[in-house]
Formats: sequence, structure tokens, C-alpha cells
Amino acid sequence: MQAPSLGGVTVPRGNGETVVRLRQGASLNDFADKIDANPASLVTVLFHLGEMATATQSLDEATFGVLGEELGYKIEMVSAEEEDRELLGSFDIDLDAELEAESDEDLAPRPPVVTVMGHVDHGKTKLLDAVRSTDVVAGEAGGITQHIGAYQVRTEHEGVDRAITFIDTPGHEAFTAMRARGAQVTDIAILVVAADDGVMPQTIEALNHAQAANVPIVVAVNKVDKEGANPAKIRQQLTEYNLVAEEYGGDTMFVDVSAKQRMGIDDLLSAVLLTADAALDLRANPDKDARGVAVEANLDRGRGAVATVLVQSGTLHVGDAIVAGTAHGRVRAMFDEHGNAVTAAEPARPVQVLGLSSVPSAGDTFLVAPDERTARQIAEKREAAERAALLAKRRKRISLEDFTKALEQGKVETLNLVIKGDVSGAVEALEDSLLKIDVGDEVQLRVIHRGVGAITQNDVNLATVDNAVIIGFNVKFGERVEDLADREGVEVKFYSVIYQAIEDVEAALKGMLKPEYEEVQLGTAEIRQVFRSSKFGNIAGSIIRSGTIRRNSKARVLRNGTVIGDNLTIESLRREKDDVTEVREGFECGIGLGAYNDITEGDIIETFEMREKPRV
Ligand code: GDP
Repeated sequence: MQAPSLGGVTVPRGNGETVVRLRQGASLNDFADKIDANPASLVTVLFHLGEMATATQSLDEATFGVLGEELGYKIEMVSAEEEDRELLGSFDIDLDAELEAESDEDLAPRPPVVTVMGHVDHGKTKLLDAVRSTDVVAGEAGGITQHIGAYQVRTEHEGVDRAITFIDTPGHEAFTAMRARGAQVTDIAILVVAADDGVMPQTIEALNHAQAANVPIVVAVNKVDKEGANPAKIRQQLTEYNLVAEEYGGDTMFVDVSAKQRMGIDDLLSAVLLTADAALDLRANPDKDARGVAVEANLDRGRGAVATVLVQSGTLHVGDAIVAGTAHGRVRAMFDEHGNAVTAAEPARPVQVLGLSSVPSAGDTFLVAPDERTARQIAEKREAAERAALLAKRRKRISLEDFTKALEQGKVETLNLVIKGDVSGAVEALEDSLLKIDVGDEVQLRVIHRGVGAITQNDVNLATVDNAVIIGFNVKFGERVEDLADREGVEVKFYSVIYQAIEDVEAALKGMLKPEYEEVQLGTAEIRQVFRSSKFGNIAGSIIRSGTIRRNSKARVLRNGTVIGDNLTIESLRREKDDVTEVREGFECGIGLGAYNDITEGDIIETFEMREKPRV
């Protein structure tokens, strides 16, 4: 069906149900292709809907939504994962079908992968150190010497030698970063809570993250060696968050430990294995090409790109052609956490891989491709897709200044904020004051995350997911975070005075409210004498009683206190024989009101303007 649209151009229309699927980062050209339209007419239609874009520019989902609705199409954006699946499909790699085709016999048990999370200073790093030193293999080989971002320890559990893989980056930053990229590597989270301190903001945050990801939690009640340690209190506090200790009839294991004195570590490892065995079916097929996730990567001057990958299924071999995110190559060598060369890595084994063309990001998935050429082609296609999606995102992200505009277009009614500050007192004070800003029910403010310290990648990732603005109070960007914020188009604003932050946010929130105008009087003039001019109509010979009378300002005429003429304009203004633009109080002048001639001696001419009322 063809019908004229906004802007008078003709575009093939859908019936309101017609679905158009577009990939992330698609442009009007792509849309035009799908509906057999002329891209230029889509540019015109969009323009009439209030948005300017070129035919090749990447647009976001909301923009396509508005355009689609106008033209009778339902827009479905293909997610990045789906798109990647299609891309791999074009190389005959179907990861879902592969998993489905696996029968019970193909699957072998694999070790659990654990992430240690919790509040700062509660002992996450110390605990990871303590776990590392309990490793029986490490004991023999002289300990784990290398930091590669993940390590595996072996422990005896119920008479059986078992392995556990630890992600060696404490904190939930790594966890969220990976989740933001769609990768889930963690099977079990160890939540560290210091027994002398109790449940703190990041404790709650960490457990929220774990629960949101459906990851079972084992609680390590740490620092039990300290005076004032109250492990029972921790159990009590956490019941509020649905973590009920087994001894209280719940199903969460709590283990008292001292990371410093390395006490209780074996019990903690047992608790991890018991929880894994009870709650999870951790099996994978080791007999296929490896698939997994990059957990850490860097560029080494001598060795080139070095990536630690965690194999999730299959077995990775030296010589395999791999692609990790947009990096590709052939596995030249692999090392374990002891620095030993390995030739094969099975599920849940972290290994350092040499031989990639570039450095993948933490959280990028990797897979073994049939050959190096395929690996390269997949990487290149992914890079192109990523670039397009990035461009679309860049348009989409919000800044305090565009907030008003976005609101007007009905795209947001909540301003999401991430607040970071140098001390927790300041963060709380700022959050409190911000939440007290009252702008009525039309818009609201939501603080989706707050914390102490520099702006981290995690903050940016959260802001990316929730389209939030980051407020930094007396803090700076962490290392390499500015680049990420830039790339993701996340706005970060820094302040050192609380009220300035409040003012900005308040202005952004209020900006969306429709402006209110008020009348401001500019001046009054009393008519002393009326001159009749055939050319100009009646001219009021007047004296300015107050303020200033300006040419072109709005005016009305009052007689005995009653308005007799409104919606008038000071069309001419003269002093003596000269045209002037304004006349001040006390001076005489001639005023012409255009076609309005109903004036007489003693009338008052009042001038005013409409000013936007500042919101208070
Ligand atoms: P993170 O910020 O959670 O990684 O915490 P750290 O592992 O860096 O530990 C913070 C501080 O607590 C350090 O000074 C540790 O020495 C101390 N600490 C960690 N675990 C224990 C413990 O079990 N007992 C005692 N007494 N101190 C601990």
C-alpha cells in the first residue's frame, strides 16, 4: 500500500502489524531496503517527526520505533547476540544446535567457577591469596607464581580430589563487566562479609548482582579472628536479603573464616563444592572444539597479545584457530597459573593464550574456528557490527542537557544517576539532597548505584545498561575508564561543591516541565494629547510615567483603570521629530499603536513582555 506520509513523500506502508527486523546500528538505508522504499523519503518522514538523520547514519531503537509507528511497521531490533549467532551461522557454526545435540554420554563433570565478591576491605584479596596457598598442587610446585586473572586449585572433598576455578579479580566489577557483555562465567559467588563490620552497601550490591544472575551464594564470614567479630550478627543481617543460613533452616552455607590466619579455608572450599553439587549440574562436553570466555587480556611487549581464557566447553589445543571477540589468531602457546606450558585445556580450565592478533576485552566470548581464515573473517565481521552498534549507541546516550529533549519526545521519564564520591558521607549527603529535589510527579530521579572511589569501568557499564548519567564528587576517572565512557557515550559530570551538582540535576529535571510565562510590566505612559495623522493614524502625545516604553513591545490601553484595547503593539515611537527605540520615565514622546485609534486624553498605555518564569 502506498500512501503519502508526513512531508508529502510516498512511502510503502505496513498495516501496523508488519514486522521489520533490523540489526543494531542499522541506518535508514537498511530500513528502506527492507520495506522497498526510497531512503531519502525516510529521511524526510523522520525529519517531520522531529529528528534529523542522514540515510547512512546508525539510529537507535527508539528512533526506528517512532518512524515505524508512523509508517505502520513493528520494529524488532535483532540483539547483538542474535546477530552474532546469525554471523556464526553463516560460517556453519551453530552453538545452540551443538549444545542440543550433546547427549548425556558426551557430558563430563567439570569444576565450578567461583567469583569472590563483597564490600571493600572485607578481605576479598586476602581470601583469594589464602585459597591460592591451600592448593595441594601449588604446595608441591612452589605456589601459584603467576597472576593470570583466574586460577584453579585442587582440594580433597569427601575423599575425592576435586578442582575449583577461581576468577582472580575480586569484587563484582569483573562480574558486572562480563554480564554487561552477555557472558556468564561464574557458577558460584563467595560473598565475603567481615564479621567485625557487618553487611555494608557493596555487600548488598554484590548479592544483588549474584541473585540477579541466578548464581548461588556461599557466604564467607571473614575476620573471625578479630576482637569484636560477631559471626552470628552477619547471619542475622543477611536473612533480610533472603540468605538464610542452613543452621537456621535456610539453604545458604555460611562459613566462618580468617583469611589472614588462613583458617576455615578448607571448609569454605567444601561448602562451594557441596553447594555446586546440590544446586547445579556442572557438566560439559570436553570432546569438541573449545568455547569459552576471555577473563583478562593485555598487550605484552615481548609476547604480543596475551589473553587468559576460561574454557567453558570443549578442549582448547595449541595450534587451534580461535576468535575471541574481535581478536583472532592461532594458539601459539598456553600456560597455566604456575607458568607451566600446557598443550590442552579442558572445561573450567583457565589458561593464558598467546597468538592472538589483538587484545580481546574481558568478557568477550571465544571459540575455536575450523581454520584461521574463518577465524579472521568472523573477527572482521564482528568488528564491523560493533562499530555500527557503537555509532547508534553514541546517538542514544543521554546527557543532562539532552534530558529535557528526550523527555519531550517521551523517551524517558526517569533520570538515572550513578553517584561516586571520595567519602561515603559525601555520597550519602549528595544522594539525600538529590532525592529531595521536588519537581512533581512528571519526572523522577533514580540513583541506580552509588559508591566511594574513582569512576570505574563497572560504573560506566551500569550507566550504559540503564542509560544513566554519572555524577563524580571529588573523584576522577579510574585508569582507562574515560575512554570507555567516551566509547559508550556515557555522560560523566564532576563536581567538588555539592550544591552545584544539585543545581545541575535540578535544572535538568525542571527543564522538562513546560515553561511557565509571566507578564512583566515594562513601562506606562499617560496620554496628554491626541494628534491625528492621515498617514500614521492617531498619535498619542504622552509622558512616560514609569519604566521605559520601547518600540515593538506589547501594549494595552486603559481608561479609568479598565482595559479598553489589548493585544496592541507600539508601532511607532518618536521624540520631537526623531524615531527612537525607547523613551524613559519623565520624558515626552509620540506613540503610534498602528491601526488602533480609540485613544483619548488621560488614557494610560501600558507595555509589558512575557518572561519565562524561573521554577523555584
Ligand atoms: P578487599 O578490599 O576486600 O580485597 O580486602 P583485603 O583483602 O585487601 O583486606 C583488607 C584488610 O583487612 C587488609 O588489611 C587485610 O590484611 C585485612 N584482613 C583481611 N582478612 C582478614 C582476616 O581474616 N582477619 C584480619 N584480622 N584481618 C583481615
